[in-house]
Amino acid sequence: MLVSLLIVGLWAAGTWLQPGTLNPNLIVHTYAGIAAGVTAFVSLVSYIWINQKQIYKLSLLSYLLMAATALIIIDTTGNTSSPFIALWMLVVVFCGLYGWRGILPVLITSFGYLGYLQALEPVGTNQLIVFLLAFAVPIIISYTIWHRRSTHDTAKDRAYSELAQELSQVANKSEVVINAIADGVIAVDGRGIIQLINPAAQTIIGWQQTDAIGLDYRSVVKLTDNHDTAVDDSNDPIQQTLKTGQATSTDKLTLVTSAGKKLLISLHISSVGEVGAGGIIVFRDITAEVAEERQQAEFISTASHEMRTPVAAIEGYLGLALNPQTATIDDNARAYLAKAHESAQHLGRLFQDLLDVSRVDDGRLSNNPAVVDVVASARDITAGLMPVAQRKGLVLLFKPDIPEQTAQRLTPVYYALLDSDHFRETLSNLIENAIKYTKAGDVSVGVEGDEEHVTISVSDTGIGIPREDMPHLFQKFYRVDNTDTREIGGTGLGLYLSRRLVETMNGRIWAESEYGKGSTFYMEFSRLSHEDAMTRLDTQATAAEAVAQIGAQPPAVVQEQPAPDQQPPSSTFPA
Ligand code: ADP
Repeated sequence: MLVSLLIVGLWAAGTWLQPGTLNPNLIVHTYAGIAAGVTAFVSLVSYIWINQKQIYKLSLLSYLLMAATALIIIDTTGNTSSPFIALWMLVVVFCGLYGWRGILPVLITSFGYLGYLQALEPVGTNQLIVFLLAFAVPIIISYTIWHRRSTHDTAKDRAYSELAQELSQVANKSEVVINAIADGVIAVDGRGIIQLINPAAQTIIGWQQTDAIGLDYRSVVKLTDNHDTAVDDSNDPIQQTLKTGQATSTDKLTLVTSAGKKLLISLHISSVGEVGAGGIIVFRDITAEVAEERQQAEFISTASHEMRTPVAAIEGYLGLALNPQTATIDDNARAYLAKAHESAQHLGRLFQDLLDVSRVDDGRLSNNPAVVDVVASARDITAGLMPVAQRKGLVLLFKPDIPEQTAQRLTPVYYALLDSDHFRETLSNLIENAIKYTKAGDVSVGVEGDEEHVTISVSDTGIGIPREDMPHLFQKFYRVDNTDTREIGGTGLGLYLSRRLVETMNGRIWAESEYGKGSTFYMEFSRLSHEDAMTRLDTQATAAEAVAQIGAQPPAVVQEQPAPDQQPPSSTFPA
């Protein structure tokens, strides 16, 4: 633009100044003046009107106009001997900037101009040399620079554009996926500021994306515990994940929506990148699910409670029928009744299991931790199940009492803080399972430990468990279904119940097994130090003494009704 304005200035000076004031070589012809004026105008427009889409075209147009202006000036000021040849060279050297769109017109115009000069009068050698130097050389230089850059740039550009395309495809795909997820998804940065909120989260919480983005998650995801108290930093799972980088899951919290509605949610938070860099919060409204589960549990609990009584009566009557002292029956009837008795017992166990499970599930399960001598207790429980093992022809071993093992090392006393009823139920269940799923061989119970833990193991030489069933063993109603187990009755509740009881006692339970060779089930609890156990035992003894003293005092009110469990069984079946 500036060059063209300069030319306009020269034209104006040549036109209006006194003849002779300006060097005649610098006088610009009117055509060139007009061309320069148009060039200056187009350049000015493209400079002011910075429209990214049109800028290239306008700039090319300005350039070509400038080239045309330079050529007109040369032509009107003595062609190859014109002092403006330098201007032409300066302009032409930039034609490569526009690629072929710049080079071709300049090339064609240059050779066209040569042809035009030749047509006027034959071009001499001197003129040809000037032409080559002033016209051809700048074009060649410009072409070389452009070509080198363009080949280099094309490869780079292609790589860039492929990468950009790939990134945008990935971004589009993840956006589509995140938007399609029915669970609420919120991404927060390390400070807890919301960076992303998907449509499902917006619907559940009742916040618009535009309002939620950029806010602290605590003002959007309002969580309360089961006492209706807002979670704070100490029990906020999102904070915990942001601080520790550990994934957290819970379905015990309530989400308060923007309208104040309370929803029970299943919440999972995972950390992103380095610790504290941010997290992804995924949540689902489980209010309806929980209500349905509660109804189911209530139904199971009521049904099993109601049915247990008649089943107990049937079991009792069958027992009486099978007892030679109370009934006389022939051998056939005895065999049938024995089968019926077995089934009634099985049904009774099933109802008991169902009742226990519903107690566990709806949180009615009590936990009364007390100091337990694990070896002594496990020995006692194992001894109680000896007859069951013997009936099946199996050897039931209590490892700490095996002479070869104790000869080398005396089993230490392991104390743990356990609910003795829960412990008994769990260990009995594991031993009964081991007996049930072992056709021949032995079942052994072991107790081992270190300073921190005590581990109880129940090993058998039974049918074993297929690898694919292992992850599901402790789920409710899960039974391994294959030819080995089909004949063996069960409910699939024992291990679930055991897991819940062990968890109530802050322990863990797991299994190892080789299909066809046998299984080992483990329970692990925290071990109490000897001193700690003694102190607690003393306290327990003192408390028991106090209770006994209160019990020994004469009751203030004379009890007239016997306790329900002391009532005579006549209401259930006749004596
Ligand atoms: P069940 O009433 O069926 O025994 P459990 O919950 O106690 O229910 O056990 C679940 C399943 O685990 C069983 O059906 C059985 O297939 C498998 N299982 C449990 N203990 C053993 C064991 N010691 N050996 C082989 N399989 C076992």
